[in-house]
Amino acid sequence: MTDALISSAYSQALEVIASVEPRIAAATRQELADQRGSLKLIASENYASPAVLLTMGTWLSDKYAEGTVGHRFYAGCQNVDTVETVAAEHARELFGAEYAYVQPHSGIDANLVAFWSILAHRVEAPALANLGAKNVNELTDADWETLRHELGNQRLLGMSLDAGGHLTHGFRPNISGKMFHQQQYGTDPETGLLDYDAVAAKAREFKPLILVAGYSAYPRRVNFAKMREIADEVGATLMVDMAHFAGLVAGKVFTGDEDPVPHAHVVTTTTHKSLRGPRGGMVLATEEYAPSVDRGCPMVLGGPLSHVMAAKAVALAEARQDSFRGYAQKVADNAQSLAEGFTSRGARLVTGGTDNHLVLLDVTSFGLTGRQAESALLDAGVVTNRNSIPADPNGAWYTSGIRLGTPALTTRGFGHDEFDRVAELIVHVLANTQPGTTKAGGPSKASYALGDGVAAKVKDASAELLDKHPLYPGLELS
Ligand code: PLP
Repeated sequence: MTDALISSAYSQALEVIASVEPRIAAATRQELADQRGSLKLIASENYASPAVLLTMGTWLSDKYAEGTVGHRFYAGCQNVDTVETVAAEHARELFGAEYAYVQPHSGIDANLVAFWSILAHRVEAPALANLGAKNVNELTDADWETLRHELGNQRLLGMSLDAGGHLTHGFRPNISGKMFHQQQYGTDPETGLLDYDAVAAKAREFKPLILVAGYSAYPRRVNFAKMREIADEVGATLMVDMAHFAGLVAGKVFTGDEDPVPHAHVVTTTTHKSLRGPRGGMVLATEEYAPSVDRGCPMVLGGPLSHVMAAKAVALAEARQDSFRGYAQKVADNAQSLAEGFTSRGARLVTGGTDNHLVLLDVTSFGLTGRQAESALLDAGVVTNRNSIPADPNGAWYTSGIRLGTPALTTRGFGHDEFDRVAELIVHVLANTQPGTTKAGGPSKASYALGDGVAAKVKDASAELLDKHPLYPGLELS
């Protein structure tokens, strides 16, 4: 696709939008300017290609297609069938999965589909077989009460939020922490690393139905072969949530024991983080779990987002190109450069470094909370997010860490030198930020004062890096 074509496609689309609601066209234009002008280090974000973005803006959005390919609850789904078939085929081939379900609208939806598929396969199906029933509609009210009680009383073991797990891995305020009896495993208090013996001991004691592996903020690789051994020993289903690192799996940076697909029964992911696709989710499964995952709709989901499934197909086709492997390797190499940039300047990283796409910077050594650091960095045009660290003294709201990821700026073409400079700029901001005080004069966890001229100096230095690596080069809006 030529730059002129892309520029004209977006310019004309924005004109059409502006003719109906100019504020939306203006906000969309402004978002491009903001993303172009800031250092985006949010580990869960990326920049999808124009082909992926354009695929989402079509009439595929207008079609209802509840059901599965060839088995829809609506008429006229032949084109959606093509879209879903192509997306699932790319997903299976890219990840070497036996089965792929591309309908989930987001990562949380994918995890809900996975939970209920595992419950359907492990709890509901055997109960129905015992009772001689084909589905729950054939149960007496009394039988249904018994089954409902069993479905609602299963055990899930996942990584705790402050060790780097996700809300959906059993965090109490999330539905996963309410629908399951949950326990959480953490990381070693000294090293911050996963301790597989401790996970195994907890699993032996707790005997979960589902063992969840995967993370949002753990800066290291996971040995999924070991996690599978633990799951097998206690009779659990291993579910891996690779939302964050799917791009590194697709790009063959994580192989062997670090590739979850050959080891897990069920793998869930988002498509918009390191995988660089549209916002959405997917579930990969073994043949054994495929029939229950396939019932994602009507079990958990309604109509699929056909336009997003189409964009998933385009993004997965991109991820199957050789160039994506180069990209994924650079994401990991750049994370090393960023980590070394921090440690060489005396900053403390949880686990001492990284071997994936993210680093977790402990900002307590700067005398700051995560909230203060996040805000001060944003003032200087550096977009990050605050994050808990293990045994966080400041809790999940203020936190003591900043999570930084390399997928987005790697897409822009940043390399070793740029990431080293980014680390230098971040350390400069944090070292020149003073924690504030509350109205009563006590220490505040939110207010802060950034030194004079620091924001302007860092913005100028960032602009030099950003100008060298423009976002969507060649895209000019008229
Ligand atoms: N799983 C993990 C590991 C995540 O990091 C996230 C998002 O941050 C999700 C699931 C949820 O994804 P979504 O925001 O698309 O629902």
